[in-house]
Amino acid sequence: MTPEDALRETFGLDAFRPGQAELIDAQLAGRDVLGVAPTGSGKSLSYWIPAVVGEGLTVVVSPLIALMKDQVDRLTALGIPAAFINSTLGRADQQERLRIARLGGFKLLYLAPERLSRPGFSERLAEARVSRFVVDEAHCISSWGHDFRPDYRILGAALKTLGDPPVGAFTATATPLVRKDIAESLNLRDPLIQVTGFNRPNLLLEVVRTRGEREKLEALRLRIRPGGGRALVYCGTVAGAEELAGELESAGVRAAPYHGRLPEEARRHTQEAFSSDLLEVVVATSAFGMGVDVPDIRRIVHYQVPGSLEAYYQEAGRAGRDGLPSTCTLLWSPADRELQTFFIERAFPELRDVLAVHAAYRRLGFWSAGPEELRPLLPDSAWRSLDACRLLLEKAGALEPDGSVGAFDPRRADSDTLAEQKKHAYGRLGAVTGYAGIRTCRHAQIADYFGEEGVPRRCSACDNCLAAEGPALPPVGHDAVLAALAGAARFSGRIGMVNLAAILAGKDVKWTREQAWVRETPAFGTLSGWSDGRLRELLQELLAVGCLGQTLGQYPLTTITSLGRDVLAGSAQVEISLPGVELPTGTTSGRTATAIADPDRLEKLRRWRTEMARSLGMPPYVIFHDRTLAELAGRPVANLADLAAVPGLGPAKLEKYGAALLELLRS
Ligand code: ADP
Repeated sequence: MTPEDALRETFGLDAFRPGQAELIDAQLAGRDVLGVAPTGSGKSLSYWIPAVVGEGLTVVVSPLIALMKDQVDRLTALGIPAAFINSTLGRADQQERLRIARLGGFKLLYLAPERLSRPGFSERLAEARVSRFVVDEAHCISSWGHDFRPDYRILGAALKTLGDPPVGAFTATATPLVRKDIAESLNLRDPLIQVTGFNRPNLLLEVVRTRGEREKLEALRLRIRPGGGRALVYCGTVAGAEELAGELESAGVRAAPYHGRLPEEARRHTQEAFSSDLLEVVVATSAFGMGVDVPDIRRIVHYQVPGSLEAYYQEAGRAGRDGLPSTCTLLWSPADRELQTFFIERAFPELRDVLAVHAAYRRLGFWSAGPEELRPLLPDSAWRSLDACRLLLEKAGALEPDGSVGAFDPRRADSDTLAEQKKHAYGRLGAVTGYAGIRTCRHAQIADYFGEEGVPRRCSACDNCLAAEGPALPPVGHDAVLAALAGAARFSGRIGMVNLAAILAGKDVKWTREQAWVRETPAFGTLSGWSDGRLRELLQELLAVGCLGQTLGQYPLTTITSLGRDVLAGSAQVEISLPGVELPTGTTSGRTATAIADPDRLEKLRRWRTEMARSLGMPPYVIFHDRTLAELAGRPVANLADLAAVPGLGPAKLEKYGAALLELLRS
């Protein structure tokens, strides 16, 4: 049987998706492969077909015990002999399945990774003629990734015992760095690496920057309306999910919360109601999603920035599985970073906090102490990371089974690995906040992050590219750019953006008061006409174009990059534009309006745009920018030629909206 026959006859499908055929052929030729593609894009099929077409047994290692049964059920229903062995089975069943595997009774055998560390298991499995070894969720092997599982580290040894069969590694989320780590950890030999499926042009990607909670809620309400189609709202906390679901319900939306603290029954009920259209919107923590297969989710809103771009895109990617246009909105306020910082600090405690928790337990004499007893004995940082500290102490053997507290050897806490992981966690957070801040194509940014090649640099489905269709924003004056860069160079790596903005603005804040010498530096007050907020936007923009950098960590420090130094020295050039209509005074070129807008006409145009946006399920600015509306409201328009002369009204927009606009403006 050929792979094509298997695709058609066994799986009932017509054609391969991009990347599948290459991966299948390479595996059948005995080559190692690494396949990276989003969940739901058909990775399983890429190793199922070689298992069906080829000889011998394919062992699949997967950490997701809950999904193993589903996979095996799917295979069995297609007539493919398959089984799983994991802790949900009794001992007798496990042995029976292993026996059948050794007799050649299965094509595929799913295992949890820890199974392979059981003494003698790999040896017995080796008798089953393992002809392929598949590692699913392969990013779990990398401590650089977001879901490191130490159990995966034993796979290398297991492979040896199994006689080094060809390896197929598959994952939905691997950055180039993690891919390298996977290839090295599994000792892949000249693997075929395929990264496909991340570019999803049917998803309209937008990021909305908000100031404070009120603006955020308003932005959410504008996007989630009764009857607006199926939507998922992701929220960082359980309390937030409950509250937002309540807010939406009171606005007439059929919404419900979903999070890990709800009873199993309630969660299932919500999931079913969402799948069957009884519910329109689910407001969920990241607990929602595994196994969700609703193809027509039209909108995904993130109410906070998640911890990584992997997490963001995995969740956002649940929109528009049917290929129809859908919108992914990230609501972002810089304060979101604090929540993620809190999560990171909680997950990766400092050694001094682990020591503090240990000392507190020692003082109490037992480690089952309740929070009220512990709280007075702990500094804030140790209190915040109590769970992680306790886990570490437990792993290091300091918490005795009888409840007493033993000695703790800090060397056993592996604090180097922890510090390394924490650094990566901050790096991932930096990447997702970077995504929020960029002004270039978001689809291209995502493709670059995951390492997918051949994706166009401009799209027609992200806020940045769509905004770029309008008239260009006047650039910020070169003097202002130089002043900001000179300040950044003077304090590079020593202060964060907020303080840098304060220095440039010449503002009297706590820090500049305490550091009196700062006032004497030439940088102080060079952009004194600018507001603080606007200056921070300017610095963000300089960060986005690569003139400035930021260190990792809880309090990132601003640095000047080599590009920034080149611009300062006059050997490189950048053009910086700031969105918005605030007119900064001082050393910048302000915006000059080309036409005075008639307020009544403007209001009429706005109302038309809102209605149009609502009916098309798009954000209003995708239809027209405020600037374009202002232009339209400020000039006589009698025919299509007049319209065509308006900046921001290109041929495509003219065709779509021209007739409607003429009618509106004539009336
Ligand atoms: P993944 O393992 O990447 O999460 P699956 O292999 O489970 O994805 O596939 C997800 C869905 O896509 C399944 O319903 C599967 O039948 C379907 N699918 C996979 N490959 C193809 C294909 N070539 N043509 C059509 N449908 C496919």
